[in-house]
Amino acid sequence: PPDVELLGRSSWTLLHSIAATYPEKPSTQQQQDATTFISSFSRLYPCHWCATDFQSWMKGAGGAPKVSSRQEFGQWLCEAQNEVNKKLGKEEFDCRKWEERWRTGWKD
Ligand code: FAD
Repeated sequence: PPDVELLGRSSWTLLHSIAATYPEKPSTQQQQDATTFISSFSRLYPCHWCATDFQSWMKGAGGAPKVSSRQEFGQWLCEAQNEVNKKLGKEEFDCRKWEERWRTGWKD
């Protein structure tokens, strides 16, 4: 079976990296691609209870993926991960810092 922690870290890195390079003004095709990708991802994710909970979140509070801009997509994914953080008793991530963490790099 997959290592759920390594799989999770790697997957969030992929998801946030996709959002970080997603256009500020995506075409209809790009928005469709993002929506289809997340939908397939949520059904194929190789940790089944993770996948089920992610799908339920999207059917409820999370709603459908918000893909009309990079900012929206990044914030939506941040909320998605915060939902899992909450469930696992991890600290919530401040989504105002999403860009700094995943796109522009921490300033220090
Ligand atoms: P991770 O939580 O993987 O975080 C990696 C990095 O992301 C952090 O170092 C931090 O810099 C950054 N980060 C943290 N929170 C956010 C945020 N909200 N927005 C942006 N960046 C952030 N594990 C389970 O045990 N049960 C589950 O049900 C489960 N469901 C999952 C569902 C999905 C869709 C995914 C992708 C993963 C799921 N996981 C689940 C895995 C879990 O989320 C973690 O990836 C795993 O526990 C490893 O945690 P970590 O502490 O190494 O860092």
